Amino acid sequence: KAKKKQLLINISREAARFFYKNLNKNPQAMKYLYNRGLSRDIIRRFGLGYSLNSWEGLKNFMAAKGIDPEYLYSAGLLVKRNNNEGYYDRFRNRIMFPIIDLKGNVIAFGGRVMDDSKPKYLNSPDTPIYNKGHNIYALNLVKQIKDLKNIIVVEGYMDAISLHQYGINNAVASLGTAFTEQQAKLLKRYADEIIIAYDSDVAGQTATLRGLAILEKEGCNVKVIRLPKGKDPDEYIRKEGLDAFKNLVENSMSLVEYKIHNLKQNINIQEIEGRVKFVKQLATILNTIDSPAEVDAYIKKYSREMQINEAAIYDELNRIKKRHT
Ligand code: ATP
Ligand code: MN
Ligand code: MN
Ligand code: MN
Repeated sequence: KAKKKQLLINISREAARFFYKNLNKNPQAMKYLYNRGLSRDIIRRFGLGYSLNSWEGLKNFMAAKGIDPEYLYSAGLLVKRNNNEGYYDRFRNRIMFPIIDLKGNVIAFGGRVMDDSKPKYLNSPDTPIYNKGHNIYALNLVKQIKDLKNIIVVEGYMDAISLHQYGINNAVASLGTAFTEQQAKLLKRYADEIIIAYDSDVAGQTATLRGLAILEKEGCNVKVIRLPKGKDPDEYIRKEGLDAFKNLVENSMSLVEYKIHNLKQNINIQEIEGRVKFVKQLATILNTIDSPAEVDAYIKKYSREMQINEAAIYDELNRIKKRHT
């Protein structure tokens, strides 16, 4: 079994090499990456590639090396034909992103179309060497940094790569899917402070809250970057520049701040009813804080802002505490 895994790893590396070589021979694919702001050096560092516009490009390349399609299928690189007669390439005419584990092994791929066709990204299925929820994209690079202070977690391949392109080399990607406990444990091995910078859409916000909870449970010190509406880190840094992004990092919020911020956006605080609702939910958020000084500071702040007496907010908080004891 260990032997089969090693074989799949070798095949995946060989496939990555093939995709990389194809990229350099394909001006359209190179142009796509240049247009997205990536340099030749970054393309090499991330081992980006291109899968041929062909049903059997990879399969035939491997066959010439004597590699059985059955193994390529196990590695997630081929798909079985409907009639069960043979296989074809899973990834065709896509920009290829190898996913590399902490030992430096290529274990899976993501592939992006170069136009607006769907699906935008295609990913390897789970295989004997790849389990989606157990990996973090680019952590193999980030873990090499000495005196790593914190790690920035983004959603997508291009977000992570783009940040690295700008010299922010502590960025990793959780790759869209739900953040898992295993991923939190992996991050915790390399840094205590984790900064989440997910897309500013609803999906990103939901994922942020879920990711935050999981990371805190693992004992990480978590902070959140809030990007302006409709932006992801790649779009933001390319439009606003490195200093602007660094500024967002400097001003990243704590979990409590982030929850309060979200709450405020979902309630109409122009009306009394809204302000009352805000304060009640604020109390449930403050109930999760251990430090009395921190609680007091928030109560003072929002007492002023909502024009509700500090004592009344304390009362709301005490009611919750009573209910839960
Ligand atoms: P790009 O900037 O290249 O358009 P993105 O990373 O901004 O891509 P999002 O739609 O924000 O794309 O998705 C974030 C991440 O979620 C992607 O990088 C990818 O890992 C994953 N993802 C997106 N679409 C799909 C899909 N159709 N199938 C599987 N995974 C996907
Ligand atoms: Mn998104
Ligand atoms: Mn994007
Ligand atoms: Mn995005």
